[in-house]
Amino acid sequence: MPQLLNREVQENLLARGFSRRHFSRVISMIGAGAALPFYNEAALAQSASGVYGAIPTDVVRINGNENPLGPCPEAVEAANKITKYLNRYQPTNELEQFKTAVAESEGLKTENIAAFAGSSDPLHRITLAFTSPTRSLVMADPGYEASSRAASFIGAKVHRIPLKADYSHDVKAMLAADPNAGLFYICNPNNPSGTITPKEDIEYLLANKPAGSILLLDEAYIHFSTAEMGSPWVAQGKDVIVLRTFSKAYGMAGLRMGMALGRPDLLAKMMPYGAGGFLPMTGVVAATASIKAAGLVPARRKANAATRESVFNFLEQKKFSYVPSTTNFFMLEVNRPGREVADAMMKEKVMIGRTWPFWPTKVRVTIGSADEMKRFQTALLKVMA
Ligand code: PLP
Repeated sequence: MPQLLNREVQENLLARGFSRRHFSRVISMIGAGAALPFYNEAALAQSASGVYGAIPTDVVRINGNENPLGPCPEAVEAANKITKYLNRYQPTNELEQFKTAVAESEGLKTENIAAFAGSSDPLHRITLAFTSPTRSLVMADPGYEASSRAASFIGAKVHRIPLKADYSHDVKAMLAADPNAGLFYICNPNNPSGTITPKEDIEYLLANKPAGSILLLDEAYIHFSTAEMGSPWVAQGKDVIVLRTFSKAYGMAGLRMGMALGRPDLLAKMMPYGAGGFLPMTGVVAATASIKAAGLVPARRKANAATRESVFNFLEQKKFSYVPSTTNFFMLEVNRPGREVADAMMKEKVMIGRTWPFWPTKVRVTIGSADEMKRFQTALLKVMA
């Protein structure tokens, strides 16, 4: 089995504290990656059909943080147009055009950009490249699980640090957790709390983290919020990799497109820890068109915020408590096992999200369309009566 890893990767693994007996686990992760049961949101959303059977079309699906608006018209047009030329692996230079569009919008160079079919793939690669049996992962509790599951699988320790009272990451406690950490994971806004960690705290972590460690800044939901983006730290050459996805604000979860932004040497370190990575051209051109669509992100941020505020007003009127999210999902307090409420909501044809061990009586709810949220409200009153 170890001969499946080239010599350079084997040497890198041994130097980072892996022993040969870990190799088969690393190989499984590289080969199957997001297909292993580490549950990225996509796997969880697709596995919902395993729990509930085929999901009827009249069910309100507010479980997977998808976007009810779907891809923008420019993205749909670009994806449609390219289908005629899909006898080619890459009809012209679509990937280069994508990177140029990203570089222009983020103030980066194209060498700072690596494209993937979604952000789950790079999330797993980064975990393999920067954690090991001697270098841990430090993250928030509650936090998005994918990286922690991959780290545990390959024998790296995971430190889960409770969010602060204002639901931001406790960067000082994160730094204190392990002087030998390899990877600090900050999701901004955080999944599942939907809350922001201020720029100053992220800068503090970057300035004080142990040598050789990196910060993974997962910005899957940043377009919905007013949080500062991490791309300037990439431009400054800091030890940070920023992840973005087209699955959320851009409404392209099923098209699969995402990216990692980082220093070329950091991107090079993560690349060997994943399989292939060839991108569907429909996703590439739709993503480029989305980036170029003028005013798209502010308009979507505004639409999401309006629906979210209306749901929060309803919850306050009805005396429910919730975590004050700034993005397209929130945690709702149900004061009983969250799973029971999710199952009861499903009977009302409203599929809400999951719970976290840290908050067993809270459930995550995605902001759907205004109509979908009306149906959510009606179902919630019935289930909680
Ligand atoms: N990061 C976070 C915080 C997420 O919530 C998700 C999915 O919901 C992802 C990464 C991965 O999403 P995708 O692979 O669709 O880009």
